Amino acid sequence: MRELFRELGFEITDKQLNQFETYFELLVEWNEKINLTAITEKKEVYVKHFLDSLYAIKAIDFSNQKICDIGSGAGFPGIPLKIMYPELDLTIVDALNKRIKFLDLLCDALDIESNNVHARAEDYIKDNRESFDVVFARAVARLNILSELCIPFVKVKGHFIALKGSNKEEIKDGEKAISTLGGEIKEIITYALPNDLGERYIVKVEKVQKTKHKYPRVFGKIKKMPL
Ligand code: SAM
Repeated sequence: MRELFRELGFEITDKQLNQFETYFELLVEWNEKINLTAITEKKEVYVKHFLDSLYAIKAIDFSNQKICDIGSGAGFPGIPLKIMYPELDLTIVDALNKRIKFLDLLCDALDIESNNVHARAEDYIKDNRESFDVVFARAVARLNILSELCIPFVKVKGHFIALKGSNKEEIKDGEKAISTLGGEIKEIITYALPNDLGERYIVKVEKVQKTKHKYPRVFGKIKKMPL
């Protein structure tokens, strides 16, 4: 597996390799009890979950920053990033408590620190507006909806990084929402996963001005009338 990490320029240590191995084992074990992932074959988990999460480094140098992963599910991209960058100040927010409980157990097993919060993003914003340097999200919602959930958390001059599948149509829909929320798309980074396991892209957004207080709206409105 070491070779896979080299593709991204990481010389992974034995400790980190063991952490990923434990992550894989717990993911597959707990997936039998609670729904965490559709992917369970080892190499696919490494490429489509672990490595794909780490591709976020192509967008930004975020070491030593206060970061938040919204809708992290089984920990993607937050936990792989934390394994590789232990100094990160990481908060994870997810609406499903059983996934947060899994993440607490996982962080104990990996001996890593992460503030895992059971909340919907639209509620957690109340005390956490504009308080993170970088907010990540992967596979949570279409870009126009996702932007309203994530950009309000980002400090002015900070970044929102959306990790996406191959459907680039979302970008066009997302542009208006991003600018309404005080963001500006700086870069779209396309990449191919190793072993022909698919194309992905990353949307890098810089927060250029504060988000109006009326955002985010309640989820029903965000979904029914995306910006
Ligand atoms: N990011 C992970 C990944 O890439 O595998 C998980 C993706 S999973 C499809 C979407 C996750 O987002 C779920 O765990 C769900 O509970 C969470 N979620 C959806 N809407 C949310 C919201 N408004 N606030 C917080 N979490 C949310």
